[in-house]
Amino acid sequence: MDLRAFIRLVPDFPKPGILFRDITPLLQDPAGFRAAIEQLAAGTAAMGSLDYVVGIESRGFILGAALAQHLGLGFVPVRKPGKLPPPVLSQIYSLEYGQDQLQLHAHALRPGNRVVIVDDVIASGGTAAATAQLVAQSGAEVGGFAFLIELAFLSGRKLLPPEIPTHVVMVDESN
Ligand code: AMP
Repeated sequence: MDLRAFIRLVPDFPKPGILFRDITPLLQDPAGFRAAIEQLAAGTAAMGSLDYVVGIESRGFILGAALAQHLGLGFVPVRKPGKLPPPVLSQIYSLEYGQDQLQLHAHALRPGNRVVIVDDVIASGGTAAATAQLVAQSGAEVGGFAFLIELAFLSGRKLLPPEIPTHVVMVDESN
């Protein structure tokens, strides 16, 4: 199934110059949502044995939780600051202008756990890279990354460790 038909392109949202990929039409279609999860899952076969899906707030929660159920794995959320109760691990990362922070519950992952990190879109790669650093802080290992859409022209992959498998369902080469 071609999932592109389910992605709504919204110009100048949330800021001028951004072409926003709205995945809500995909989530609303049962066959489309199922196909998206199956196509995300297909790429995890190359990642070896996995213990958890780590989903990035907030659309990574929707895809990641469904993927975790599909794969028979547990789900661990990585959240924006102030949302998870303590104790938490924190990772600060750079945005185009300024900084942001992500948090992981300090006891969610243990050394020896292997995880796949999931989000809807990889753009500059900063969010996924910060999430990988959080996983490393906990002593767990990133077995792979899985994204529905890669904005390849932003070269976000360069921020991800090249030795770790990265699976993408749809690649957009421009804008
Ligand atoms: P980045 O850290 O630049 O890779 O940005 C990734 C995060 O921002 C993901 O959580 C995406 O959901 C969101 N994002 C970035 N660009 C877009 C876009 N064009 N459309 C939809 N979401 C986006």
